[in-house]
Amino acid sequence: MIFNEKMETMPQEELRKLQLEGLKKTLKRIKESHSIFKEKYKDINPEDIKSLDDIKYIPILQKDELRKAYPFKHIIAEEKDWHRMHMSSGTTGDPIINVMTKNDLEQWGEIMARCYSAAGVTNKDRVQITPSFGLFNGGFGFHYGAERIGAFIIPIGAGRSRLQLKFMDDLKTTVLCAIASYPLRLMEVAKDIGFDFEKTDLKTAILGAETWSDELRDRIEEEMGVDTYDIIGMTETGGVGMGIDCEAKNGIHVWEDHYIVEIVNPDTMEVVEDGIEGEMLITTITREGLPLLRYRTRDITKIVSREKCDCGRTHLRVGRLKGRTDDMFKVKGVNFYPSQIESILMKYKNLTPYYNIVLEKIKGKGALTIVAERRNGFRHEELDKLSNELYDFLGFHCQIQIVPEGTIERPAGKAVRVIDKR
Ligand SMILES: [Zn+2]
Repeated sequence: MIFNEKMETMPQEELRKLQLEGLKKTLKRIKESHSIFKEKYKDINPEDIKSLDDIKYIPILQKDELRKAYPFKHIIAEEKDWHRMHMSSGTTGDPIINVMTKNDLEQWGEIMARCYSAAGVTNKDRVQITPSFGLFNGGFGFHYGAERIGAFIIPIGAGRSRLQLKFMDDLKTTVLCAIASYPLRLMEVAKDIGFDFEKTDLKTAILGAETWSDELRDRIEEEMGVDTYDIIGMTETGGVGMGIDCEAKNGIHVWEDHYIVEIVNPDTMEVVEDGIEGEMLITTITREGLPLLRYRTRDITKIVSREKCDCGRTHLRVGRLKGRTDDMFKVKGVNFYPSQIESILMKYKNLTPYYNIVLEKIKGKGALTIVAERRNGFRHEELDKLSNELYDFLGFHCQIQIVPEGTIERPAGKAVRVIDKR
């Protein structure tokens, strides 16, 4: 089902026109505001932008610039229009605050409703929302969208895994919304208490906020008996819901009447050709509180297609996020992302979905240890096979530590995969 037929199936030429207008309008609004970014764009004017290609003359926006503007110096909207805020979960320094106006909350509800519809969710569904309702945007985003499509909402929030399972069963949940690694915890608790997902009405899981490999996806679908959908979006862009994959499962649609996507080479910032991997830049064209021009998301992906999708939507599709430029590692001259290691590990059904990638310096040289958890039945031959497979991928031998199930910490929020001791 398509939530907003007119916008979601709009021909690409018309979307381009909307984007050009939206881009000029956004630049104008920033330049006319009290935000510190007035200065950043002083050399470029809306009338200089004749076509979407001219976006390249607009300077790139970095995460640090937003962080330095803490708390509100980057906000464009007038204070009287401020309605609510969410905040990025920065690990260092000040967080980034996104102040949302009433229209921003409307826009959020709209794009989230589209995401639910793309995942086949209707007003007949019962939606269990497991991300937290608070400074993190997840809970509220899922809530607004579910309200818009008229589904029954179970706003349980984060944690309390046993209660989550109890509700899933007793309240007949059909749709689970979660941070991508949370189903792993639910699967584990289910096993402990003898809970059977097959006997529930659960059919769909909408997952995001973390990079999760295709192999982990297969495992969740298999063990929970659900169809999963990969949803993207971050606090800076206005929260979860910027895009989602559809039933065609051939890339993530990004709502182009609200966002302009560019994929660039992260070293040169030059736009790369479709199909080539690079860093995703996002320009928002309808956001009011914190509009972004060419924002470096740090997410690595590629344009999969600009053609009309089998689902009927015309909005472009990007690949599932492979990782972030800041979590790419270099060990012994080899660059890799944690998700690539995950892809290899998850093929082994006798390993749990929990693992750590430990980076160390031994005698001045980089060393890599992969800690994985075995289930009963993990055989020695499998370890040899895993070791060979990792060697084929990395081109060097890493340490592999197989530990008993339950050894690796299960955090309440986002999964901690990498331990960097260098
Ligand atoms: Zn589609």
